[in-house]
Amino acid sequence: MTQEIENTPAVGTFATLDLHPSVLAAITAVGYEEPSPIQTQSIPLIMAGHDMIGQAQTGTGKTAAFALPILSRIDAMRREAQVLVLAPTRELALQVATAFESFAAQMPSVNVVAIYGGAPMGPQLKAIRNGAQVIVATPGRLVDHLSRNGGLLSTIKFLVLDEADEMLKLGFMDDLEVIFNAMPDERQTVLFSATLPASIRGIAEKHLRNPQQVKIASKTQTVARIDQAHLMVHADQKVNAVLRLLEVEDFDAMIGFVRTKQATLDIAAALEAKGYKVAALNGDIAQNQRERVIESLKDGRLNIVIATDVAARGLDVPRITHVFNIDMPYDPESYVHRIGRTGRAGRDGRALLLVTPRERRMLQVIERVTGQKVAEILLPDAKVILQARIRRLTQDLAPRVKDTANQNAELLAHLTTELNCSAEDLALALLAKTTEGQAFTLDGVEREQPVLAPRGRDNRDRDDRGRGRGEGRNDRGEGRGDGAGRERRAPLALSEGKVRCRTALGIRDGVAARNLLGAILNEGGLSRDAIGRIQIRESFSLVELPEEGLERLLGKLKDTRVAGKALKLRRYRED
Ligand code: AMP
Repeated sequence: MTQEIENTPAVGTFATLDLHPSVLAAITAVGYEEPSPIQTQSIPLIMAGHDMIGQAQTGTGKTAAFALPILSRIDAMRREAQVLVLAPTRELALQVATAFESFAAQMPSVNVVAIYGGAPMGPQLKAIRNGAQVIVATPGRLVDHLSRNGGLLSTIKFLVLDEADEMLKLGFMDDLEVIFNAMPDERQTVLFSATLPASIRGIAEKHLRNPQQVKIASKTQTVARIDQAHLMVHADQKVNAVLRLLEVEDFDAMIGFVRTKQATLDIAAALEAKGYKVAALNGDIAQNQRERVIESLKDGRLNIVIATDVAARGLDVPRITHVFNIDMPYDPESYVHRIGRTGRAGRDGRALLLVTPRERRMLQVIERVTGQKVAEILLPDAKVILQARIRRLTQDLAPRVKDTANQNAELLAHLTTELNCSAEDLALALLAKTTEGQAFTLDGVEREQPVLAPRGRDNRDRDDRGRGRGEGRNDRGEGRGDGAGRERRAPLALSEGKVRCRTALGIRDGVAARNLLGAILNEGGLSRDAIGRIQIRESFSLVELPEEGLERLLGKLKDTRVAGKALKLRRYRED
């Protein structure tokens, strides 16, 4: 028997969900403002101990929907495996592990291990033996571990099947059965899947106890007079994509939507640096300041506002010609709501949407629910950007050229005489002045484009895993031999100008962050702000250090000892 719960109004804050205080603190640190609809519905059920089926695809916030309540309920003091999350691919497993890492950031005794093929088995096994409480695994590799150590999962209390339909498509059915059989019956099981075919319902019937079903039902929505387009882009290339699109889009005023407070600040700063009149709007901004921002957008002192959904609530500015969904909304309703900010007062509006490869399915859902195609556009190249710049300059100058009453005729005569030059020379000089800071040649525009940052492991999407569907069993593959699976917490994004360095000293050696920090500050002669994030793990630690002068710094630290042991800091290469 399943009980369906549909679209409970998405009210409330994280604070009302009874989550562990450390988890709440971590949510604040990552900048989430309010729970997404799937989170509002799932978290209370999981907190109450129910088995659950969640119908949700990537982009809805499903990872936090299970990770937050589960982390709130584990016994952090027990150093044994308590949570198993199964994911169809290595990339998803790493992403989920990273998410658990960040939500457990304030729970120092909680460890997460990712178990997947293509990395040596020994370190993975060791991490489990060392008491990692959260295991995120692909099924094939986990079964390999089980064949060597059948008791591995005997202490599991929470099981999550993430993207269950994908796991079945990749042929993991038999492996799942092996894994179910290796686990205690007394456990809480949560299944997330974008679709619920008979095979998934079969699994739920057999292995879940009286599951509650959560689903974000999508009613058909009407969207009128809004021209919609989407661009496929990788997560770490979004800022670049926004900058390029703004060059070619003819907008009056724009609102850009992102998911976190930090993103409002980052994107607004990137645009401001390019000369746009832009402000960030998020839940941390005081009400009177918020009102000032909206007033400025209304009267043209600002042209762009980058906002979270929460902060943009009730914002109604008729000048808005463009809505830019820089981060995907959680569901089609929210998409329709967002893009309704343009096309006000009978005007035409335009809505842009950035889609990362993993969010393709969400795009399809939006198209289905709205009954409209969201046309694909391509990233404008240098040629298109140059044309747009010339067009804008022409539009700007056209009315001035026609203005015969131009008061500057006298000034022109004066300047050409004074500078002893032709009117053409003067025009060239004035053009150089007005276009300062912006290239007007193809080469120049090309050079100006930010270099696309290489995509790190964290952002790697399943779609680029370079392996076709049905090859899922590759997840057992050995052979990279790079130790990447070593008791890993998937790495967080690096700060700018920093590289990660590793030492084999960790918690088991009695090392704490302050010891490492003290040693590096004292013996390396660095200032505190030169040292980035420090991550202490059971058997190693990672420290972010400035790339510039790294070799010299490592030389200085050559003989440094921490907690009585040689530090031996080395640059850490993640790939
Ligand atoms: P998922 O559907 O779990 O893949 O999550 C999609 C993205 O939404 C991830 O980048 C999350 O960090 C982000 N996210 C999840 N929940 C929230 C929230 N309540 N507020 C802001 N961002 C969120």
